[in-house]
Amino acid sequence: MSLQIYIDGNFYSREDAKISVFDHTFLYGDGVFEGVRVYEGCIFRLQQHLERLLDSARYIMLEIPMDIHELTAAMVEAVRKNDIRNGYIRLVCTRGVGTLGLAPWLCPKGSVIIIADSIKLYPEEYYENGLALITVPTQRNRVEALNARVKSCNYLNNILAKIEAHNSGHIEALMLDQNGYVVECSGDNIFLVKKGEILTPPTYLGALEGITRNIVIELATKGNFPVKQEPFTRFDIFTADEVFLTGTAAEIIPVIELDKRPIGEGKPGPVTRSLITAFRERTLIDGHQVYPDG
Ligand code: PMP
Repeated sequence: MSLQIYIDGNFYSREDAKISVFDHTFLYGDGVFEGVRVYEGCIFRLQQHLERLLDSARYIMLEIPMDIHELTAAMVEAVRKNDIRNGYIRLVCTRGVGTLGLAPWLCPKGSVIIIADSIKLYPEEYYENGLALITVPTQRNRVEALNARVKSCNYLNNILAKIEAHNSGHIEALMLDQNGYVVECSGDNIFLVKKGEILTPPTYLGALEGITRNIVIELATKGNFPVKQEPFTRFDIFTADEVFLTGTAAEIIPVIELDKRPIGEGKPGPVTRSLITAFRERTLIDGHQVYPDG
């Protein structure tokens, strides 16, 4: 069956799913989005994703023409329509059609777009063997300029970092702030483990408050690994026992190298491995059920 894409209450084929070239999300990246996983017929942590979406929208003063219940129902419908049991949902809320000027108040109504599809996962070898990171010259946006807690449709800051990583043969980029503190990666949050303690950068440095990041904080705390949210530099990564990344698409991925230097023993460590196991168990628990038969 071909993909059925939700736009403002109707479903369209891939070819017919279109929005106006005058929509400010196309013209200026003025919109917000979420990426959400479906595990075994349940939408994982849907409530948290929708709450973050509403916060993002509020921050940029974008009025979404649907409430949280309507968004939930539409996402469930999109997953069912495409018969997704394990997959990925992209939810995009646009500013809507306006003039060629910036003014968002001249865009009367935004669109809601839901693409429920299968997911192309990172190759299994990264989970087994870990991945190598490179620090890139492009700094993460200053929070005073554009707070990373808004998951906006303008990802140029991250895309530049991704290009720089790719140009040197890496799949993910480590991004710092203007003071040299570690912030996050182009599309994932970062954690380090040192002497049984786990550290992740605080969101006030300019990191997205990742849903997976929050789950890892919960799981680690339950497993008696205290998680500190405090600034650290590359020094702390070079001298860490373990490092890993978190994200909706990536889940938890071990990092074994930064800037060509091995981290810890240069292979995925026991804390990362136990968090991966705990996370995978969790994905089968916290879901919003899509299909009546389970
Ligand atoms: N940071 C950035 C910049 C991201 O785009 C993402 C999402 N891909 C994350 C962190 C991870 O957030 P989440 O766990 O909510 O997917």
